[in-house]
Amino acid sequence: MSVHVDAAGNIRGCYSATQPSMPRLLIGSHLDTVPRAGAFDGVLGVVLGVALVNLLAGRRLNFQIEVVGFSEEEGVRFGVPFIGSRALAGTAGDIDVLVLDAIRAFGLDPSRIGEARVGDDALGYLEFHIEQGPLLESLDFPLGVVEAIVGQSRVDVVFEGKANHAGTTPMNLRRDALAGAAEWICKVESEAQATHGLVATVGRLQVQPGAGNVIAGTALASLDVRHADDAIRKRAVAAIQEHANEIATRRGLSVSWECRLDQASVAMDPLLMENLKHSVRVSGYPLHQMVSGAGHDAMIMATRMPAAMLFLRSPGGISHHPDENVRAEDVAAALMAGEAFLEKLRESALS
Ligand SMILES: [Zn+2]
Repeated sequence: MSVHVDAAGNIRGCYSATQPSMPRLLIGSHLDTVPRAGAFDGVLGVVLGVALVNLLAGRRLNFQIEVVGFSEEEGVRFGVPFIGSRALAGTAGDIDVLVLDAIRAFGLDPSRIGEARVGDDALGYLEFHIEQGPLLESLDFPLGVVEAIVGQSRVDVVFEGKANHAGTTPMNLRRDALAGAAEWICKVESEAQATHGLVATVGRLQVQPGAGNVIAGTALASLDVRHADDAIRKRAVAAIQEHANEIATRRGLSVSWECRLDQASVAMDPLLMENLKHSVRVSGYPLHQMVSGAGHDAMIMATRMPAAMLFLRSPGGISHHPDENVRAEDVAAALMAGEAFLEKLRESALS
């Protein structure tokens, strides 16, 4: 393979086809992860791409293969995720000055990030990734074909009541912001439990003034809602907001609602997905289709070209943690399915 580092810090290895004019398949994932992480998030997908090319043992196909190790997927250092994959998709946009400085300090020229954009010869993108969840393990399946990456809403919600003395204020004269928030949080949970495939989470709660002998005057809560179907997600967010309003009115509180993120779900490409499903089956593994609850580079690449994704079982469902792991036999399964995928693509590119 001929290897270079592009101006966004992506490592890109190109394996040529039988003819230079033939289209290219991209196989990739990210090289970075989070602090105190495990060893497999992201980089396993890069290694599997390299291993697949290695398995070809020099045999050339009727398409090129470009293996990409994406830079900065997690957004840990600068709070901006997907810098590498957005450069390939041509959607890097205005890059923060701190990021530009870091790119220069690394010895690259950020004014050339536009050149990292993939040309029109790309026929698709394939990503292998650990599931980072417990579903495949619960089914005892090694692999899962991703159908879509969920859409996501994030909202900041503030319940406002009246802080007062915990001893002298009778129960019927209170406007307790925390009790209102607590009732609402249980409604968030039951709304998600009642809707197939919906997950909704209040993961952060700040209480003011935050003293044991003072009724809470203010409760600031986060809300994270995800579903593969954007219409279902939006309906759920509207219902959850309605619950907040009803609870606040009944308890004499006010509630404010600020939407921080409304990100649409991303479907994987039907043809590449069919190819991947076929590849899992002919490799002798049970087929499971699933949605990804987390964002991935494939979500960005799907804006530019057909994309497909294959999950590998995560032992214990653990990720972003030193205990993150993968089974050797599942890696072998992914390699077999990957080989079948390349073969199927070769046949379809011939016709
Ligand atoms: Zn990842």
